[in-house]
Amino acid sequence: MAEFDNPYVDEDPFVRAHFDCLDCGGKLWEYAIQGQMVCEDCRGVFRSEDVFNASVEQPAD
Ligand SMILES: [Zn+2]
Repeated sequence: MAEFDNPYVDEDPFVRAHFDCLDCGGKLWEYAIQGQMVCEDCRGVFRSEDVFNASVEQPAD
């Protein structure tokens, strides 16, 4: 029988992301289903794509 693993079935919809909020520097949580990240401090919502891009442009050091 073919198996199809839906990655969202058993997942908490929020996944801890390894990024900081673009506005306040708080921790971002990825809302996996919608490809968005939500800041736990300011509740700002960002597209994951934007956060990734910002992260690439500003390498942590
Ligand atoms: Zn924030």
